[in-house]
Amino acid sequence: MSAWLWISQTHYPVHALGPGNRLTVWVQGCTLSCKGCMSRDTWSADGGVETSVEDLAELWRSAVGQGADGLTVSGGEPLQQADGLSAFLAAADEVRRGAARELDFLVYTGYDEDELDEPRRAALSLADVVVFGRFEVANPTELVWRGSANQRMVPRTELGELRYADFIDYAPEQGPLQIEVRGNDPWIIGTPRKEALRNLDRSLKGVGLRITDTTWRP
Ligand code: SF4
Repeated sequence: MSAWLWISQTHYPVHALGPGNRLTVWVQGCTLSCKGCMSRDTWSADGGVETSVEDLAELWRSAVGQGADGLTVSGGEPLQQADGLSAFLAAADEVRRGAARELDFLVYTGYDEDELDEPRRAALSLADVVVFGRFEVANPTELVWRGSANQRMVPRTELGELRYADFIDYAPEQGPLQIEVRGNDPWIIGTPRKEALRNLDRSLKGVGLRITDTTWRP
């Protein structure tokens, strides 16, 4: 089993991809090519950083020590590194079993449930919740933590049910978004609605800033 994952980014705390404060790991590499994907920078399998499962588990341990409520894995396409994901979630599970509170694992995948082969299914065995499905730019949604209306948020454990059941049909007036700075560039974390990106564009223009390059345009 692989003991590493190709990673695009990690960040803690993230509070726009699942409940509470979360360590989020964005894997590198995705061949699904959804039109309108806002993370085109994660598509190439040549980018990113090869990161050992031990180092990722250490990051998770540190996040738990700082009060994390859960772990989110997104991408890129996590299930295109199914063995590495399995190894990472197994290591992260060991850490959470030593914690004094309950910590959930949320995994995003562009695959639908019926597309999972055995390794991909196994890689999700420790996930409490999975968001399944390609991003469909022509199929917008206001549902929290989902990018398009076809994507299904599926609790898979008792903890997942307990923590996420109320969010399955939850459509907040404004979707949660987080802006961080990555190097010299603003970085949007979350599943922004179309109008949120338009508004951001407008607000930046309003203060004399022009977006010249984004991760959601070719
Ligand atoms: S939305 Fe997700 S699954 Fe689709 S191309 Fe982008 S990274 Fe891949």
